[in-house]
Amino acid sequence: MFLRSLKQLRKKVGFRLTIWYSGIFILSALFLFALAYFLLSSSLSKQDHEAIELRLQELSALYQTGGRELLEREVTVEKKFEKKIPFFTRLAGRDNETLFLHIPYQWVEFDIKLLEKMTPDTTMRWTRLPLKNNRNALEVASIRLPNDYLLQVGKSTEDREKILRHFREIFTAVMVPLILFGFAGGAFLAFRALRPIRHLISAVRSVGPNRMDTRVRSPQTGDELDELATLFNGMLEKIETLINGMRDSLDNVAHDLRTPMTRLRGIAEIALRSDQNLEICREALADSIEESERILTMLNTLMDISEAETGVMKLDLESVNVSALIEGVAELYRYVAEDKGILVHTMASNDLYLTADPNRMRQILANLLDNSIKYTPTGGRVDIEAHHRGQKIVILVKDTGTGIHPEELPRIWDRLYRCDQSRSQKGLGLGLSLVKAIVQAHKGQIEVFSEPGKGSNFVISLPSNNDQS
Ligand code: ADP
Repeated sequence: MFLRSLKQLRKKVGFRLTIWYSGIFILSALFLFALAYFLLSSSLSKQDHEAIELRLQELSALYQTGGRELLEREVTVEKKFEKKIPFFTRLAGRDNETLFLHIPYQWVEFDIKLLEKMTPDTTMRWTRLPLKNNRNALEVASIRLPNDYLLQVGKSTEDREKILRHFREIFTAVMVPLILFGFAGGAFLAFRALRPIRHLISAVRSVGPNRMDTRVRSPQTGDELDELATLFNGMLEKIETLINGMRDSLDNVAHDLRTPMTRLRGIAEIALRSDQNLEICREALADSIEESERILTMLNTLMDISEAETGVMKLDLESVNVSALIEGVAELYRYVAEDKGILVHTMASNDLYLTADPNRMRQILANLLDNSIKYTPTGGRVDIEAHHRGQKIVILVKDTGTGIHPEELPRIWDRLYRCDQSRSQKGLGLGLSLVKAIVQAHKGQIEVFSEPGKGSNFVISLPSNNDQS
């Protein structure tokens, strides 16, 4: 399912990225062409205008020096020698009637009469005579001469249009391969960008019950896909730890069950071989009950832990007075402690209340106190205290016992884990796992501070019941 979603994601994202990358490329190319076209067109038009203006100044100066005659001579000479850049020239009277006109033969199609119908003003101005069925036009600049005559010089846009048309043709010819190249480049970039997803897919494919060590190679790009790879690796890490934990637990349970079961079998064999000796048979039966009791306790505790951890443990919540709770548990163990020469001291004000399951709370404290007495040598001391800390109630179980080695500290909460030094003592290695699971089922936390040879301090914090306090 996850693999299929990943493949769909790869397809969708791949398609979108291809469109996105090639779109950016093609649009950028289009924009560059448009910019170049605009710059070229405006530079050519500026060039033409400058040439026309220059010619107009020239002819105006000539007219002012030698009158109409000199002007006509100049234009006629130009006509004769067929200059490279032919100009249109017109001299008009005060009422815009044509006095002199020179139209290079290429431009006879322009309707020059239009110029006669216009009423030019006194300053220099530009007129554009369009050509029918053609993009070309005649651009004409006009100037008033000192005697109020009108001098007009013009030039066709044909040359300019030719260059621009050529430019457009090149653009069209280049655009088709450019679009193809854009798509190919986009697809390649999308393919590269999706490399982490491909790694992810192959990692998901290779993950199996016996192959949890696979990890996705991080592209180290710091983007979302990189984050996805890191998250996925983190998830695999957690699953691997959980699976290994479960495997270890199962191994431990199997191992811890084998000893009492073998013992049970041994007891039964002795009883069978006793030739119906009633005393031996009774003893064997009593031992069998004791062993079965141990196995049952172990299985029940394992069930309790798993129920508490998965949130299905039934808790009969009520308001519990913490001081009474501590006193009750301490009272139960006072005799055992005195027997071992250990002082049990309690301290809790009477106004501390918790919303909790009292039986489970008793179970927690009994387990912690039992451990403290078990792992504290004669002459030691155990303190159980409770007080308010902000919105929480903190319960401490402190002892002056053997303490726990720092390397073993993180493992004491694991099911069936027993520290090396405690193997000589009775125990299943399940007490602290159960304590932690029940505390968490009550939305609390437990931590431990311990120093070998000095003692341990187990600290439980639980939400306080404000209504009662
Ligand atoms: P056990 O049945 O062995 O007591 P627990 O789960 O209660 O199992 O505790 C796990 C291990 O933590 C114990 O084997 C012991 O080594 C260590 N431990 C727990 N409480 C104490 C304590 N108060 N002082 C020293 N070691 C402790």
